Order: sequence, then C-alpha cells, then structure tokens
Amino acid sequence: MHLNFDVGDPELTTAEVERMWWWFQMGSIMDPYVRRHLWKSWGFCPRHTWIHAVWECELRGGYLLATSILYEDLTRRAARALRSRLMTWNVMVQRLQPRDTCFTCDSITDTKNFLGEQRWLASAERANRFQRFLALLKVTQGQWEERSCPLCLGGNGLVCRKHLLLGTEPSADLSQQLFALANRLEDFIESMTWGSKPAGLLEQASWVEALGWFAGWDYLEKLQRTHKDTLSRNTFQT
Ligand SMILES: [Zn+2]
Ligand SMILES: [Zn+2]
Repeated sequence: MHLNFDVGDPELTTAEVERMWWWFQMGSIMDPYVRRHLWKSWGFCPRHTWIHAVWECELRGGYLLATSILYEDLTRRAARALRSRLMTWNVMVQRLQPRDTCFTCDSITDTKNFLGEQRWLASAERANRFQRFLALLKVTQGQWEERSCPLCLGGNGLVCRKHLLLGTEPSADLSQQLFALANRLEDFIESMTWGSKPAGLLEQASWVEALGWFAGWDYLEKLQRTHKDTLSRNTFQT
C-alpha cells in the first residue's frame, strides 16, 4: 500500500466535516478499534492528517488535544520501529509504509450512515476560516518553520516521512530525534491538563512538527500561500 501524497486544497469539504464529527466528536479516536487501524496506517493520509487537526482546532474548542495524543503515540512507535541497528535503511524505511487505508478516506467512501451534507455547511464554512488554526500556527511559526523538512519547506528539521519513502536518506540520529519529538509532545499534552505548567513555544510547536514529519509539509505550504497575510515567511519572529 502506498501513500497518496496529494493534499488537495486546504479547505475542508462538508463530507469531511460530517465524517469526522460522526467518528471523532465523542473521543472515538481513542477507541481500541480505531487506534489499531491508525497504528497500521501510521495515522491518516497526508491530507486528512492536517484536515483532522484543523477540524479539531476549529470545531472542537481551539485545542489540539486528540491530535497531539494520537501523534505522540505514533511518533514514539515510529522512533521504536526505526531503532534497529541490524537492518539496512532500504529495508527499515519500508516500515514507514502504511499497512492499512486512511480511516477518514474510508469513512467518506462509505456513505450508508451519512446524515446529509447540508446541515454541515455552516460548520465547514467556520472551519474554513482557519481562524484558530492560523492563530496557533502564527504563535509558533518561528519554531516549526526552523524545524520543518529541508526538502518540503526549506527548514533545518528532520527529513519527513514522505521524502524518506521517496528515497532520501535520514540523519543517523532519526530514531533519537523522534523520541525527543514524542517527549516534547508529551510535555505539550501535559500542559493541556488541569493544574499543569504552560508549555514553551518549542513544545507548543511539537504537534506541527509531528504532523509535518508524518504527512509532509505540502498542506502548510499551501496554507502559507493562501493566507499570506498571516503566515508569510519570516514575517513573524519569536
Ligand atoms: Zn484520507
Ligand atoms: Zn519533506
């Protein structure tokens, strides 16, 4: 099974909004059945990796809690999967291929429980303003831009999974770097719980870094182009 790297337009379709509401509004992303699927597929396809984060942020309260919990889990699993010193990279990189379909792509194809797109138009319109999502990205732009994939966005960060699968060699410390990213995500998740101390900008940017590594940065690059006023490069210094 190979990944479809085409992320399409940044906007959410009404079908995507409905399907994610149907599946994830009550925390089903934590269900063992769903999580097992997401383990096998390394999360969603590149488009739905980002779209799910926008959906959660815009329509579920402005936080990235479910996204961060899922990608902390996946990042740690990827770090473990790439830890072996006995295998050549050519063999090891195959572990990053999905072994299952994208859960959200599947749910859109399966129309038997559709409630009707009309009632989701207003939600889709709200999500597609990207108001909260852009605000979060703007605050941490100095961090994630610097830590983005050199081949996707010209940063100094890890070569993303897309480019690894397309044949680029990783840095020797990829596994350790992914463990470190998972730890930053853990600190960020902790900061969203009651009574904990706020996270620094590096930790606040960790979910962007993780999504970029798993799905590539094309979606953010498109968002930067369509929302130049907010996210154009080097206009925001931390
Ligand atoms: Zn998908
Ligand atoms: Zn890349």
